[in-house]
Amino acid sequence: MAADTVIPFGFESLPVRGALIHMSQSWQRMLRDHDYDQLFTETLGHAAAATGLIAQSLKFEGAVTLQIQSPSALQMLVMQCTSDLEMRGMAVADTDKTAANFPELTNGAHCAVTVDNGERPYQGIVEIAEESLAASLEHYFSRSVQVPSHIVLLANEELAAGIVLQQVAGQPIDEDDWNRLKFLIETLAFGDFEGEAGLELIGKLFAEDDVRVYEPRAVNFRCRCSARKTEDVLRMLGEDEARETLAELGGIEIICEYCGHRRHFDAVDVERLFSENVVPAPDSVQ
Ligand SMILES: [Zn+2]
Repeated sequence: MAADTVIPFGFESLPVRGALIHMSQSWQRMLRDHDYDQLFTETLGHAAAATGLIAQSLKFEGAVTLQIQSPSALQMLVMQCTSDLEMRGMAVADTDKTAANFPELTNGAHCAVTVDNGERPYQGIVEIAEESLAASLEHYFSRSVQVPSHIVLLANEELAAGIVLQQVAGQPIDEDDWNRLKFLIETLAFGDFEGEAGLELIGKLFAEDDVRVYEPRAVNFRCRCSARKTEDVLRMLGEDEARETLAELGGIEIICEYCGHRRHFDAVDVERLFSENVVPAPDSVQ
């Protein structure tokens, strides 16, 4: 299977831009420390592919965060992708609740897409009112952002993938052409990603069209947690709570919910954290 990439492309004779994302290694790493069921895996994978597709279109250095919160079985889902296509994400289940499909999983959900360029974050609210995340995002792009879009997302334990087509603003497209493209991308299936799922696949999908394909970009799993951020979490927990846990368990272990990285704090660490004139630990690269 091909390396994890996003491939942007455009149509020579239609005012449509697109991108294809394909993640296997980075996706499997994201799942590694979790025990999601099939529906959670699928939903998280759809979110990963969608967030990567949005992030690849950023024209500045920044990050996209897609966050879903619901009173249903999907308590929370967070997916973050930087403009360099470094991604992390996780989901939390409400184990008292069950769901058989996406609408049940996200009933009553709020979904926010935040684009952060380091200065002024912009947040859009995506209504999860459709049968899938792809349909909800299409609805958001078409109605709220005025960019008519077709989106197809696929995910299982091995693969998170997707494709987006967006109309170029101010350039009308023939309705039949737009519907034909929708039909073509809806044929996308897991089997399409078994070979060199890149240029070849784009060529196969749009065999009748003149498609200009741009340089593929690598997608990687990368968590931005660090020793310093973990210490901040411990500080927020408070000195009393930290000392109580220390007395009870002999140490404090904080596990990153994104990457599974374990950081251990002993009595000396806790002493240092809550003493005055704190010297922060060097930020780890992890
Ligand atoms: Zn982490």
